[in-house]
Amino acid sequence: MDVLPRLSETSDFPPIRRGRLEILQVNLGYRCNQKCLHCHVNAGPNRKEMMQRQTVDLILAYLSSSETKKLDLTGGAPELNPYFRGLVAEAGRMGVHVIDRCNLTILEEPGQEGLGEFLAEHQVEVTASLPCYLQENVDRQRGNGVFQTSIHALQRLNQAGYGQKRSGLLLNLVYNPLGPFLPPPQKMLEEDYRKQLGERYGIVFNHLYTFANMPINRFGTMLVSDDEFFNYMKLLREAHRDDNLDFVMCRSLVSIDWQGYVYDCDFNQMLGLPLTMEGRTRLHLKELPGINLEGFPIAVWDHCYGCTAGQGSSCGGALH
Ligand code: SF4
Ligand code: SF4
Repeated sequence: MDVLPRLSETSDFPPIRRGRLEILQVNLGYRCNQKCLHCHVNAGPNRKEMMQRQTVDLILAYLSSSETKKLDLTGGAPELNPYFRGLVAEAGRMGVHVIDRCNLTILEEPGQEGLGEFLAEHQVEVTASLPCYLQENVDRQRGNGVFQTSIHALQRLNQAGYGQKRSGLLLNLVYNPLGPFLPPPQKMLEEDYRKQLGERYGIVFNHLYTFANMPINRFGTMLVSDDEFFNYMKLLREAHRDDNLDFVMCRSLVSIDWQGYVYDCDFNQMLGLPLTMEGRTRLHLKELPGINLEGFPIAVWDHCYGCTAGQGSSCGGALH
């Protein structure tokens, strides 16, 4: 079911422009060991799109020649890309700070042995999805057994030093709502997570980030089937805050797809909305060196209200 016409037809999202580029966010492929209900990527075990060696080399070449020193790896499950570990190790050698957007269960998959220790050795910041501290809610959204496997994976990361005081190994958790509503206040929920996960499972972590669900792909289709799409859009639009506009993530990052094309963010990538510049309909990573994107307009449609509703959502969680 196509949500695109519903997002573009009447969009009145305020125009915004790019700031200084600080983060290269790279989608290493759409394959995932999970198939979550809310997934904005439509990721799953049968997806074939995967970044190839040539494009991984372009990422490294770009990082070595640019001032952008943060690499944010996402997917699907980015760790399923066969070049994941090589990319992390090489970026680390260049002094680039690497973030792994990890679904946790990947740590327990065959072929991923030693992943937690590898991430720790390379000082990778782990940002991991865990939409609730209750088993029933996580399994409903992410699949049966996901909660228990995620708890084991978190304990494994803790053993490797993640989330532990003075280890310098950052472990952030990500909450997203289980349905068509906005996340509760981030600080309050973080305290609940810390207490519940600590008392029940002895788990420690650094920060909890809350995100609103994007009305695109799997979540968007679910809203359309439940006849909730326009209600959810109304909720996002009415909760929009202009003061979030300065901090939305597209102002400081670009998103690269598995073939090396450039987008304003991962959501636009999934909608097939490329970053555009005068005279070009889309831009490839190999054309990026030497281009200063500051001041260029960002491609915005109605889904952008998902970033500016309420406390706001960005790759680092709430904006307020
Ligand atoms: S939400 Fe994350 S873990 Fe779930 S299917 Fe999508 S990419 Fe995989
Ligand atoms: S959806 Fe993407 S382009 Fe739109 S405001 Fe959010 S980060 Fe920016």
